[in-house]
Amino acid sequence: MGASHEGLEIKEGMTEMSRSPEQNTVGTETRLVDSREERIGRDPRSVSQAELRQLGHTPISATAAIRARCLDCCAGQPGEVRACMALSCPSWPWRMGSNPWRAPVSEQRRQAGRRIMAQLHARRQNPGSEPGPGGETTPAATTVPAEAGAAE
Ligand code: SF4
Repeated sequence: MGASHEGLEIKEGMTEMSRSPEQNTVGTETRLVDSREERIGRDPRSVSQAELRQLGHTPISATAAIRARCLDCCAGQPGEVRACMALSCPSWPWRMGSNPWRAPVSEQRRQAGRRIMAQLHARRQNPGSEPGPGGETTPAATTVPAEAGAAE
């Protein structure tokens, strides 16, 4: 049974016993090891999105996936993820759900983002209107059909 933390569904690892026959077909393949057949997980690069959904996955960012993995590693306890002492774990810098290598957002970009959000908000409030540069709206232009013979 899974648990939900911070909007992320944490799934317990699938064991061979817990997988349905369909999931086994979709998610695994056979390889030969010393002339013996062995079931292994498929290369995700060859798994379609529909198949991923069949396995119970949903589209999330790599950052969110790492965060979910860390929560799984710590039995779903966000405080334990925060306190993690495995400093050399590749996930350690990512464990709080943000990319530590991304350059900080400049004030100029922050303002541009606020302007875009204001415009989107204004458009949502007044569908069909044209937002100005500051997000203000003007009524939508309307086309009034000319009456036959009126313009002549
Ligand atoms: S960073 Fe810590 S919590 Fe995350 S996977 Fe590594 S050991 Fe587990």
